[in-house]
Amino acid sequence: MRAVCLDDKRKLAVAEVTTPQADGEKVLIKVSSVGICGSDIHIWEQGQRKGLIMGHEFSGTVVDAGALKDSLSIGDRVTVLPLNPCGECEPCKKGNSKGCLNALAACPGITAPGAYADYYLARPDMVRKLPDNISDEEATLIEPSAVALRAIRMAGVKPGDKVLVAGGGVIGLLSAAFARIAGASYIALTEANPLRGENAKKMGDVDEVFDGTDEQLVPKLAQASGGGFDYFIDCVGIAPVINTGIMALKKGGKLMLLGINYAPVPISGLMAVIKEIELKGSIGYDQEFDMVINLMSKQILKTERFISDTIGLDGVQAAFEKLSSGKYPDVKIIIKP
Ligand SMILES: [Zn+2]
Ligand SMILES: [Zn+2]
Repeated sequence: MRAVCLDDKRKLAVAEVTTPQADGEKVLIKVSSVGICGSDIHIWEQGQRKGLIMGHEFSGTVVDAGALKDSLSIGDRVTVLPLNPCGECEPCKKGNSKGCLNALAACPGITAPGAYADYYLARPDMVRKLPDNISDEEATLIEPSAVALRAIRMAGVKPGDKVLVAGGGVIGLLSAAFARIAGASYIALTEANPLRGENAKKMGDVDEVFDGTDEQLVPKLAQASGGGFDYFIDCVGIAPVINTGIMALKKGGKLMLLGINYAPVPISGLMAVIKEIELKGSIGYDQEFDMVINLMSKQILKTERFISDTIGLDGVQAAFEKLSSGKYPDVKIIIKP
């Protein structure tokens, strides 16, 4: 089969690789759509996992149902939780597969083969059948939506709250969408790339977009929020952005960290102390994956609007370059192998 493999730092190559074989247990899936994730861009920029087939946000059709032959038929449309909980460790045994201590071992698209390929072989317990009214393309947004939903649930956004989101990438936009669903009365978003800022406005979940590079950003946010935000959801992960968010929170406000930064981030401890800020981090999801499928199926969450382009396997290298450049409005690009 054809697959896109990591070849070097910032370099992907389309290669002919061995097609995974049905084994009577796992579910063999013909990949129909797979999304490019921000974490894929990080792996590509580092270039260490040579030969890795990325892709953990995907949908496809069943070719061989394996152990699920009683509940799945050939041709059924499915998506897959891109996790590989061990089932043996203490958190797994307590039913908390998100807390698996071996979570990064053979994680699809991160440390094990993913779905930038014609076929994918899935653990049966990770496979989810798609409702008819969720398209293959939309299904690629289930995974990132689950990430944003967890953050908004953990933050505890309630009707009437004022929410500031930093970052107009897909996680920022989805966080804004869930803040709206949760009943936030005012949602502002900061974004340094003006094209993405324009795009965020068009998506309709955000009341106002602010230029993240504006030197007057803090007083502007204070004025717009009428004295401070209840929540700040950081989807960027760099110091100036987080510190602006701390400044923009009201006293007792909550800071939710979602942005990934491998380096330590110096934050303004003094301001956090003076304002009695509550700080939480959020990563991944647990039951949120199935919750998102339900919310999409009920049309409460609409995500097709976030897809800005659809490409083939040959276009993946160019798409990575485009997404990492900061010069385009694109947030989610979908690959159709
Ligand atoms: Zn992802
Ligand atoms: Zn485990």
